[in-house]
Amino acid sequence: MNDTNFNIQFTDLAEQQKRILPNLEKRLSRVLAHGKYIMGPEVFELEEKLSEFLGVKHSISCSSGTDALLMVLMANGIHSGDAVFTTPFSFMATAEVISFLGATPVFVDVDPKTFNMDPICLEKAIKAVISGSFSDYPLPKDDGIGRLLPKCIIPVDIFGLPAAYEQINSIADKYGLFVLEDAAQSFGAQYQKKKAGNLSHAAATSFFPAKPLGCYGDGGAVFTNDDRLAEKIRSIRVHGKGTDKYDNVRIGINGRLDTLQAAVLLEKLEIFEKEVENRNRVAALYSRLLGQYLELQTVPDDCTSVWAQYSVRHDMKKQIMESLNKKGIPTAVYYPKSLHCQTAFSYLGYLKDDFPISQILSERIFSLPMHPYLEKDQIHHICDTLLKVMP
Ligand SMILES: *Cc1c(COP(=O)(O)O)cnc(C)c1O
Repeated sequence: MNDTNFNIQFTDLAEQQKRILPNLEKRLSRVLAHGKYIMGPEVFELEEKLSEFLGVKHSISCSSGTDALLMVLMANGIHSGDAVFTTPFSFMATAEVISFLGATPVFVDVDPKTFNMDPICLEKAIKAVISGSFSDYPLPKDDGIGRLLPKCIIPVDIFGLPAAYEQINSIADKYGLFVLEDAAQSFGAQYQKKKAGNLSHAAATSFFPAKPLGCYGDGGAVFTNDDRLAEKIRSIRVHGKGTDKYDNVRIGINGRLDTLQAAVLLEKLEIFEKEVENRNRVAALYSRLLGQYLELQTVPDDCTSVWAQYSVRHDMKKQIMESLNKKGIPTAVYYPKSLHCQTAFSYLGYLKDDFPISQILSERIFSLPMHPYLEKDQIHHICDTLLKVMP
């Protein structure tokens, strides 16, 4: 059979759209009819549905996952001199928001099996910041700021797999730190019977089109059970509004989600649980066919992943990806450069070898096609081809 007959997409938003189009068009027409493009009724309906889905008290929709992270840090008053701990094996946005507020990202290496923040390294890094001792754990260079004050931890649920929150939350308690879950990739995953997005003090998720739950543009949300924090973030979302939008009580941003995007998300939520099931079906078959030949991301017993990406590790990544792409199988690399090696963060003065696991992952990892509509024969074809081209 000709390889191209399999018509394999890396993610397949077109197939998804086919399933929701008639109802989606009705929803969009309703928005066009009522004309409340900013903070229309769909925004509030979505927030209610998100809270119900997660079992969380407050859902605050917003303009992107990046702004969701940013607003939580702003609400916590994060500023220059504060240390915010996060992993270098993530998307730029996770650490960018820390620097944007003038605070300092302190990187913590990841676990080689889960690719998520290693709680042992986290505690070492916190202790090193407190003691100011560079010999205990690699720290950002002292830029004349002096001793940093530990404030916040941002664990990332990488590829849709929740981080080790039991350990991380207890370390946070011990040192009095705030935990912000970067759930941009993990909406729909579970950890100890709770939903990702509801595993710490607050969480940020993204509705970027390619995320497990995506809209047709930029979007995101903050989740929290903390009433006061929620109120602050709702204010920050609309220019720091007080009693009304021309009463401004703090510095905020324009961080709202469009009504049209909320309408898209409401329709996609209808089929979301089925899609999560399907993603897990795809991942299970991949793991069964590839498990003995490649290093995979390990899902601990107390979690489920939502498989934002299905990633594997191999020394000969480049060669394998090229061969697969030639045979019509798309692949991608998340992330080719660890954050501590990014030019934008060179001012932190980290060395390449400071975070060896993250470094090795970025050199060896690549992702296979993953979406809820991959068929069994397509998955078999991808795996057969992969095993054939593997040196
Ligand atoms: C996508 C992503 C973000 C940012 O979300 P946007 O909606 O694109 O701003 C943040 N963190 C992680 C881990 C992501 O994957």
